[in-house]
Amino acid sequence: MNFLIVGAGFTGAVIGRELVEHGHHTTIIDQRSHIAGNCYTERDKNTNVMQHVYGPHIFHTSDEEVWNYVNKHGEFIPYINRVKTTYQEQVYSLPINLHTINQFYKKAFNPVQAKEWISSIADKNIDEPENFEEQALKFVGKDLYEAFFKGYTKKQWGCDPKALPASILKRLPVRFNYDDNYFSHKYQGMPKDGYTTIIESILKHDNIKVLLNTKFEKGLINEFDHVIWTGQLDQWFDYREGRLGYRTLDFEKHEAVGDYQGTAVMNYGDERVPYTRISEHKHFTPWENHEKTIYFKEFSRSCGEEDIPYYPIRLVDDKVLLEKYIALAKKEKKVTFAGRLGTYRYMDMDVTIKEALSVSDNLLNVIKNKLNFQSFYHQETI
Ligand code: UDP
Repeated sequence: MNFLIVGAGFTGAVIGRELVEHGHHTTIIDQRSHIAGNCYTERDKNTNVMQHVYGPHIFHTSDEEVWNYVNKHGEFIPYINRVKTTYQEQVYSLPINLHTINQFYKKAFNPVQAKEWISSIADKNIDEPENFEEQALKFVGKDLYEAFFKGYTKKQWGCDPKALPASILKRLPVRFNYDDNYFSHKYQGMPKDGYTTIIESILKHDNIKVLLNTKFEKGLINEFDHVIWTGQLDQWFDYREGRLGYRTLDFEKHEAVGDYQGTAVMNYGDERVPYTRISEHKHFTPWENHEKTIYFKEFSRSCGEEDIPYYPIRLVDDKVLLEKYIALAKKEKKVTFAGRLGTYRYMDMDVTIKEALSVSDNLLNVIKNKLNFQSFYHQETI
């Protein structure tokens, strides 16, 4: 069969590759001038530092299949993400761990004492946290919430943390030991030559045709047997029910000599600091040597019509709208919606790849058994 895939990020590339491996043909179009979507990396011209053009991406997964998949397409070097946060002129370690707690409260607790301390200050009236704030108050109490989560989250999401789902905070662990690994996954690493080369390798197949700087037009539907759409779900329907909310990011780029902040990611918990974090990209490749450095102040704001969508907001109104679009999507016969934008979810790269593999399996199964295409399926993630 002949497939059109819209979007050359991880989702489009993985699905495209799976389909051609099973004898089909795919054309992948992308409106941008490059592949790899928001995972796109390139070497900065002045410094030669590998730049994560759309913000830092660190690969982490516990899924063997996904880990083997990406390692087939390039070399990964072990990399542990150790994030710091600045609050009121002090630097603390994230995710909240025993060091953070001891430093914050000027104590020398052991794990048991720290646990007792946190449970004595945590809000015991909250059984099932219904939103981000309740989740934080239940697990770390008011002080730590206000220092590390409240201001940052307001800046990041542009709304009161009470309006956000608890699931966003569930991304971050609280640890009563000195483990400051931001992630808890078994496999963690950085692609030695950046993400673009990984996706290039996935796309390298005689039966995959990639067309960049190419916008999708509805007329294209008739030229293919089936379309896989990884763009925004509401865009497919010309936003007829309204626009799903996204946050976009602005990066203020700086160049300097030496080491600017001594680490890859420094968050800023204070609400009065206008950016959420500063990332200094040469620290993502500690095996490389660079005299110069580049760093990026990251500002989050509401995503306008011409901006690049990063984070789906999923406030109550968005959820109502999403249900309407899902109902519309389910009626479609010639298109499958996939990926972060296509299904309007907050997805890490490993989840994206896992799901692209399962979408491909479904498509291949439909073809093999001559079933009808299902347009909208995804695993439950946060
Ligand atoms: N968060 C926070 N303070 C921090 C880091 C994260 O309040 O210093 C909150 C914030 O709401 C963020 C969420 O936790 O959106 C998830 O953080 P993560 O680092 O996973 O976000 P990402 O890297 O995807 O932007």
